[in-house]
Amino acid sequence: MATVYLSVGSNLGDRMANLRKGQELLVAHPQINLIKASAFYQTSPVGGVVQDDFINQALAIETDLDPYDLLEYLHEIEAKLLRKRLVVWGPRTLDLDILYFDHLESEDPKLTIPHPEIMNRLFVLIPLKEIIDSNFFAYEQIQQAIERLEDSQDQRIERVDENERN
Ligand code: AMP
Repeated sequence: MATVYLSVGSNLGDRMANLRKGQELLVAHPQINLIKASAFYQTSPVGGVVQDDFINQALAIETDLDPYDLLEYLHEIEAKLLRKRLVVWGPRTLDLDILYFDHLESEDPKLTIPHPEIMNRLFVLIPLKEIIDSNFFAYEQIQQAIERLEDSQDQRIERVDENERN
């Protein structure tokens, strides 16, 4: 079984419901077990419009699917949630990214692992840090990236109350 870390995000419709539904579909797969889920975090761009904020979460799963089969299943989940792919970087019902897949390294543009944007995104790093152990192989790098981004940028991120409706 491989240990895989995922980043999940939504900024369209009932965002918490989208994340919950995504998780439900994920664990419905017979070859996927959920190990850990972070809290929900809201990323508020400075001066941004409230309804455009993302809710993000990191998940740790265990799977014996190969990376491409897992990616395909994640795309099926996104499609079920009617993710809008009309605007690149635009609003999306659900976005699922593979951050780490065991110690695998892949430079395939269809599946780049580790995900190339991890170290630039506080909304990925903060939830991820919550669910990794301090002996995780990239722990130090993740911690340093968080410190760098917190010092130098104004990516704002805050924990969301589980019971809040969005
Ligand atoms: P995005 O719109 O950011 O979700 O990107 C979608 C495309 O990125 C997909 O069609 C994937 O083939 C590709 N991709 C490359 N690396 C990854 C990764 N680590 N996790 C998820 N998608 C990836």
